[in-house]
Amino acid sequence: MYLFGAGIFGLGTPELIIIAVILLVLFGPKQIPKLGRMFGSTMKEVKSGIDEATKELQSEGDADASNAGCTACGAELAPGAAFCNSCGAEQVAAIAAGCISCGAELAPGAAFCNECGAQQEKKADA
Ligand SMILES: [Zn+2]
Ligand SMILES: [Zn+2]
Repeated sequence: MYLFGAGIFGLGTPELIIIAVILLVLFGPKQIPKLGRMFGSTMKEVKSGIDEATKELQSEGDADASNAGCTACGAELAPGAAFCNSCGAEQVAAIAAGCISCGAELAPGAAFCNECGAQQEKKADA
């Protein structure tokens, strides 16, 4: 034990090699990959946890970004605002428009009315 000059309790590289050999003898070479996989899966769990946290942060950022800006000038709008504070443009998308022909409720973005079949002119194009 004094061969390496590190003392009884000192752990130098040669001692670590001896410990590795002892582990190899105790657990057998077949157990070493298992230990490696255990370590690997732990690292994966840690990594997936970090990924989830990152995704949550990103989706929060996306939710902020999806607060649509002004359809005319792109300025930030208060949620549900009907008019832009910067340019005064009416926010068409924010208004749940009915059919221009019969006034029936339309699915958001519907091009034709389900009730009368009238084509819905997009006000945003004007
Ligand atoms: Zn605007
Ligand atoms: Zn209609």
